[in-house]
Amino acid sequence: MNNINKNNFLFEEISSLKGVGIKLKKYLKNKKIEKIKDLLLDLPYEIIDRSKITELENLEIGKITTVKVLVKKYNFPRIRNLPNKVICTDKEKKINIIFFNSREGYIRKVLPINCEVFISGKINYYKNQYQITNPTYIQPKNNKAKITKIFPKYSLTEGLKEKIYRNLISKVLDKIENFDDWHSDYFLKQNKFNNFKKTLLNLHNPSTSKDIRSNDYRRLVYDEIFSNLVSLLSTRKIVKVKKKIKIIKNKIESIILKNFPFELTENQKEILKVLENDIKSETRMFRLLQGDVGSGKTILALITASKVIESNYQVAFMAPTEILSTQHFTLAKKLFNSTNVKIEIITGKTSVKNKKIIMSKLEKGQIDLIFGTHSLFQKKITFSNLGFIIIDEQHKFGVNQRLKLAKKGGNNCDLLLISATPIPRTMMLSFFGDMDISRLKEKPKERKDIITLVKPEKKISELWPLLKNEISINRQIFWICPLIEESKRLNYSSVKKKYDLIKNIFPNEVGLIHGSLNNEEKNNVLDRFYKKEIKILVSTTVIEVGIDFPSANTIVIEDSNKFGLSQLHQLRGRVGRGKSNSICILLYKDNLSNNSKERLKILKSTNDGFIIAEKDLELRGYGDILGFQQSGIKDFKFADPIQHKDLFLLAEKNIKNLNYLSIKKFETLLKLFDRAEIIHELGN
Ligand code: ADP
Ligand code: MG
Repeated sequence: MNNINKNNFLFEEISSLKGVGIKLKKYLKNKKIEKIKDLLLDLPYEIIDRSKITELENLEIGKITTVKVLVKKYNFPRIRNLPNKVICTDKEKKINIIFFNSREGYIRKVLPINCEVFISGKINYYKNQYQITNPTYIQPKNNKAKITKIFPKYSLTEGLKEKIYRNLISKVLDKIENFDDWHSDYFLKQNKFNNFKKTLLNLHNPSTSKDIRSNDYRRLVYDEIFSNLVSLLSTRKIVKVKKKIKIIKNKIESIILKNFPFELTENQKEILKVLENDIKSETRMFRLLQGDVGSGKTILALITASKVIESNYQVAFMAPTEILSTQHFTLAKKLFNSTNVKIEIITGKTSVKNKKIIMSKLEKGQIDLIFGTHSLFQKKITFSNLGFIIIDEQHKFGVNQRLKLAKKGGNNCDLLLISATPIPRTMMLSFFGDMDISRLKEKPKERKDIITLVKPEKKISELWPLLKNEISINRQIFWICPLIEESKRLNYSSVKKKYDLIKNIFPNEVGLIHGSLNNEEKNNVLDRFYKKEIKILVSTTVIEVGIDFPSANTIVIEDSNKFGLSQLHQLRGRVGRGKSNSICILLYKDNLSNNSKERLKILKSTNDGFIIAEKDLELRGYGDILGFQQSGIKDFKFADPIQHKDLFLLAEKNIKNLNYLSIKKFETLLKLFDRAEIIHELGN
């Protein structure tokens, strides 16, 4: 297609540009700019407008500003190292122009007393007075045109000079040609979008007014969302292929249900049916099982695994941490008791010798169900007949990773992702449009709600009697702090300091765990907590994901306002897994902002992760929702679920009318947003 040829240069290496040598290339790479299109998609964060005159009463500190002032008075201290100062005014207000290393003669010439001048530079504030130090431009009143300059400001990384960077961008902008847009003229017009070339020019061209800029920005956002949807749709086409049918007997299921001490909820039973249908179906399963923390997803995955095993396939069950993996393994051992299913686990603890044995057994088909972390999918490990991959709590999987995983399993391998990350409904299609989705909404009945209290840290001593009481009735406590060690920079609590404090109050009852411990140490502590040898576990967020301690009924979270809402909800989900009441105590240091108060209130008011996610979205915007940032499913650079909600909806509507055979048409678009891998897949 010739629109691709015309714009091939967008995808050329940055070093193909004149003047980009090894050094500059390296600097640009630090800014994640490798191809020419990366340069174009790096938008200015601000437009500097020196042509606009600002009155002294409206100055903003730190801003590059042009002022029109009267030169009033010189102050030339004849002491070395002290700068020369010129006092200028407009109306009643004053500003000091400061010169380091400039001679008096020069200053008198450019700033003649009692004359009006234009001065442009960055506004500082020093000893209660505004000043400009070594101004970039000074021009007499009749020469305004000389400083009339508007230019874009880009964020730069070390070594990268502003002028060079700006030149580079304008060089590239000069080269973009008009090409056939991937959107119809009608569509562009309807949405007041410009064609792509114009859009880019406007976004970098400072003389365009703010309004147009925002519409151009919206076009870019739309394109980003749309490209994501196109790639999700294509992924789905690739993954959901025909597979060999698995014949299901459900014999092991009834044994598992006997070994499981609870009755499944209606909702669990429904979803179990859906999963079974996926397994029996003649197309591959590619499903996300979403459900709040503690809703009982694991048992569903294990029962479904048993069905796959009965049809003579192997199952791989992957979890993000060894601790969680081990817990799943232990549970599976119990549930599959008195079946002939062979279960194994590979962790960092597994000796080299044992690992070899396990690997050889996997290859020969002598293991039916294997647990482990992502190391299960190293190239060294081969399966004899892998039929089902389960991935627990791995919300770090973006669409590209999901596709990779699907390819690894082969066409007969079903795939189930399990996640407690509550994605708001409005975002679902844009993040998981490639997958089928089941939501486990109902929580096990006898589960009591968690009582949530918000308290200032000052009142910490009020907690000791409460903890004492909990311990006396054989219950356990999590104590969470954000930091491992005290920090000079951050006024947050650390686990080490808190451990020392609590140990003094409750000798021999306290354990400490954090990310700097090695796996053996970590497992050791968790093991002791599990066996109730320790009653209080002081911890960073390492225990965040999925771990089950039924007799832990209290969690204290320090500096709770520093955590994201969804993260707090996940942490809180570590308790409340047994049959008795649980308490979550959110501590905060003084001076809680209104927004923080509001956020903590939400946590107090509901235990439903999905409601929390929606509210968090309303209150905070993109940044922290669902911990997107940490979770890494943030596939978007420009789009914001709140600001651009209408564009998400528009893109979702339009993708429904798209025939995937016409996906080729969007090749340039997909390449622009690094989602083109999929095109090659489709071509094969
Ligand atoms: P999550 O959905 O967060 O992964 P789990 O699968 O770990 O939750 O389940 C949390 C706890 O709830 C476990 O102790 C599990 O045994 C228990 N559980 C699961 N299903 C039920 C049920 N139907 N009734 C009572 N408890 C259940
Ligand atoms: Mg879980």
